[in-house]
Amino acid sequence: MVSRVIPVSSFDLVIFGATGDLAQRKILPGLFRRFSVGQMPRDARIIATARSEIDTDMFRADLRTSLAEFAPCISGDAEMLDQFLATIVYIHLDVMSQEGWSELVGLLRRSAVRAFYLSVSTSLFGTIASRLSSYEAVTPESRIVVEKPFGNDLAIARALNADLRQGFEESQIYRIDHYLGKETVQNLMALRFANALWEPLWNSTHIDHVQITVAESLGVEGRGEYYNRAGAMRDMVQNHLMQLLCLTAMEPPSRFEPNAVRDEKVKVIEALAPANPQEIVRGQYRDKEGQGSYREHAGDPTSRTESFVAMKVAIANWRWAGTPFYLRTGKRLRARTSEIAVVFREPPHMIFPEMENRRSNQMIIHLQPDEGITLHNTIKEPGPGGFRLAEVTLDMTFANALGGQTDSQDAYERLIMDVIRGDQTLFMRGDEVEAAWAWVDPIIARWEEARHAPEPYDAGGSGPEEALMLMHRDGWRWREIGRVEDK
Ligand code: NAD
Repeated sequence: MVSRVIPVSSFDLVIFGATGDLAQRKILPGLFRRFSVGQMPRDARIIATARSEIDTDMFRADLRTSLAEFAPCISGDAEMLDQFLATIVYIHLDVMSQEGWSELVGLLRRSAVRAFYLSVSTSLFGTIASRLSSYEAVTPESRIVVEKPFGNDLAIARALNADLRQGFEESQIYRIDHYLGKETVQNLMALRFANALWEPLWNSTHIDHVQITVAESLGVEGRGEYYNRAGAMRDMVQNHLMQLLCLTAMEPPSRFEPNAVRDEKVKVIEALAPANPQEIVRGQYRDKEGQGSYREHAGDPTSRTESFVAMKVAIANWRWAGTPFYLRTGKRLRARTSEIAVVFREPPHMIFPEMENRRSNQMIIHLQPDEGITLHNTIKEPGPGGFRLAEVTLDMTFANALGGQTDSQDAYERLIMDVIRGDQTLFMRGDEVEAAWAWVDPIIARWEEARHAPEPYDAGGSGPEEALMLMHRDGWRWREIGRVEDK
């Protein structure tokens, strides 16, 4: 099977914060990759802006260095690199000042799609949206792209939504959660809604529980100031884990169309039962063998911020009543792993005595470090010597299934191309973000009111003991973090 690259229509992409970490590490390397496979039209333009007082030549020279590091496979093609850099101009612009806006808006073409990517602090969103509007930069073919964190609580998220809507319609606002740009996350939708096999099993009659894990091996080094105000609940659960939960649990939409999909996701969030405080574990990593502690990394010796959350979540609707979803995320854990494990119920009647110690069927949707889907089944071990059972893992990893011919894209580049196409399916709608905050806010408020101290866990481990107990109480175990599947 040959992968198809369909060029998008011509665009002017304005990146605010183009000298920053995200733009240099993800956005611009991603665009370069799309350019190199011919998806970016040759007359598309990138207008980079930031506060640094540099010119286009200096910006391009710095970008060469970033691309060598973050797009190493293609940056060796000197001709391609020069052609890509030629699509970029840099404008120095402090968004708080009135200077530079006329020059920026003067560069934009009427006929092309306009995308404004706000790779800057959330506190600048309102100013940028209103300046773009007052300088009449917003055409019907304009879109605005914003990064996480989308607020720190419900009130701030509402204010941000109101700020963005000053200049843009909801249909022009693209709130990024890069987890939604992952190939496997989209494949989860294909698996569920393009096959007749799974959907009849996808409910509490057949699924015992679901485990969603987003584990990071890194700590908060360098991001302590932001993270200390956020914590794992705001930084990960409210957005990434909630999105994975929604895609796993949502009803089939009537059409594969942005609002139909997002309507179903909102319904899942609205069906979440209020979290039971006894079923939430907050943790903070402590030093183990010189790896450093959260408090050292965050530069705050008395910090009560959680770097880990595990919780049991109930979805109060017909499909999921009786099937808990266990969520777990943390920093400085044993390995970097993101996955959704769908654990099916055991056979209702065991006819094989040795089956008693076997795991039930599981479908594992792997998001990180490798993407793919594996299915765990029990079969008869081949050969003579009596009837023995063995577990086999069916590997549905795409590169293998499709003959290694997939055009693997990073989540960011896929999402940026969706912005240009005007496809909002993989972006969060305003009401969806607000619903997620409305569910998370009371949990955080309770912690703050009680001055709750997180449970310590060893750096490089699996999280606090209490998180293991959360599962044990229900007769289950978390999947091992960083488990390598037998293939
Ligand atoms: P950064 O601090 O590295 O870069 C910030 C950029 O904003 C710089 O280019 C700077 O010149 C520009 N800037 C700051 N004030 C400005 C002003 N007044 N006028 C014009 N430009 C101004 O930040 P970052 O890590 O690139 O993050 C950017 C945004 O993306 C933030 O909202 C962050 O939360 C979000 N984000 C970042 C990452 C990441 O991996 N870095 C991941 C997810 C979300």
